[in-house]
Amino acid sequence: MMRLPHFKYHAPRTVREAAELLAAPGGAMLVAGGTDLLPNMKRRQQVPQTLIGLRCVAELRSIQSGVGLREAGLTIGAGVTLTELVRDRRIGESYGALWQAASQVATPHLRNMGTLGGNLCLDTRCNYYDQNYEWRKSIDFCMKKDGKICWVATGSPKCLAVSSTDTAPALLALGAQVTLVSANATRQVAASDLYQNDGIHYLTRRPDEILTAVHIPSMNGWRSVYWKLRRRGSFDFPVLSVAAAAKFADDGTIEAARIILGAVASRPIDASAAATAVIGQRLTDEVIAHAAESAAKPAKPMDNTDFDLTWRKRVMKDVVAYALRELRGDDVRDWRRKLSKQML
Ligand SMILES: Cc1cc2nc3c(=O)[nH]c(=O)nc-3n(C[C@H](O)[C@H](O)[C@H](O)COP(=O)(O)OP(=O)(O)OC[C@H]3O[C@@H](n4cnc5c(N)ncnc54)[C@H](O)[C@@H]3O)c2cc1C
Ligand code: SF4
Repeated sequence: MMRLPHFKYHAPRTVREAAELLAAPGGAMLVAGGTDLLPNMKRRQQVPQTLIGLRCVAELRSIQSGVGLREAGLTIGAGVTLTELVRDRRIGESYGALWQAASQVATPHLRNMGTLGGNLCLDTRCNYYDQNYEWRKSIDFCMKKDGKICWVATGSPKCLAVSSTDTAPALLALGAQVTLVSANATRQVAASDLYQNDGIHYLTRRPDEILTAVHIPSMNGWRSVYWKLRRRGSFDFPVLSVAAAAKFADDGTIEAARIILGAVASRPIDASAAATAVIGQRLTDEVIAHAAESAAKPAKPMDNTDFDLTWRKRVMKDVVAYALRELRGDDVRDWRRKLSKQML
């Protein structure tokens, strides 16, 4: 049985108190639901000596309409659990991509504990890293923790671990912003700017900052969807995901669009050429095929997740096409079923 290492635990009641604790020297880490961090600590991938629990911080746990800079949208506290998110009618009705993404994270038990903030800050993943200490020691570790080399690409100067959060691509497609609070300052950044393509330093969040809230704008006239490729439909991390959002004019042409790919790099990837290709167009089969082809180009998946790499590359444009067909209103339940069967 893997045991947790010893650590000190604080349970602040306010964001201010939590930010002050985080600012103190000693490398404390935040813990929300603990569904990512605690298993990592058991495997000694992350070994903070102090944890600052966020579960008692009430101000992180609400979903409000029309707050802050985004008057007509929603502000979701980082401590809202994924189950609470999925049960909120406003998310289901107006933010389809976020609803579909959150409802496919892990299992019901993990969604009851796991929070939106924890999901956005989820550690990157890799077959050579998500192993217990003894396994990692047997290969002399790797650059992400305790070692020097990257086993996925031995000449790589940086870690290529994979961004595996489901909600981040969805929120990028929805044009969300996040608020980051430290003991001295508060700043709001585009959700897209929270990430960088480096498997170790995958967040631009400073170590003394708490992600307190996510702001999503009003999506009047928009539709959005999220597709996730994984081995087991009941629970598994994504090995490829596609979040797509589009604003439709009355005549069915697309006025604005965003297509974001997840799990193909150390950050969600903006397939902007594909989004540009659909603007001013109706989503015909030809337009979808062209956009799917362009979307697959910027993705450079590596051989460090589940499934054969060649196959993952090959199906990428199919999954983008499925997402775009659902966006135009096709009933894609059959395709979803077929895709699940292909993976068995
Ligand atoms: C078996 C299994 C399957 C899983 N499947 C999936 C899946 O399919 N998709 C998926 O996306 N995830 C999956 N997860 C990972 C995890 O359950 C979810 O990502 C969950 O949403 C994490 O939230 P949490 O609150 O538990 O995060 P925690 O474990 O508490 O924290 C995760 C990270 O975020 C940081 N953090 C937490 N809150 C904040 C904050 N407010 N501000 C700044 N930093 C913060 C922590 O310091 C830590 O680094 C799975 C986990 C398990 C164990
Ligand atoms: S990508 Fe390379 S450095 Fe990063 S976790 Fe995997 S093996 Fe380690």
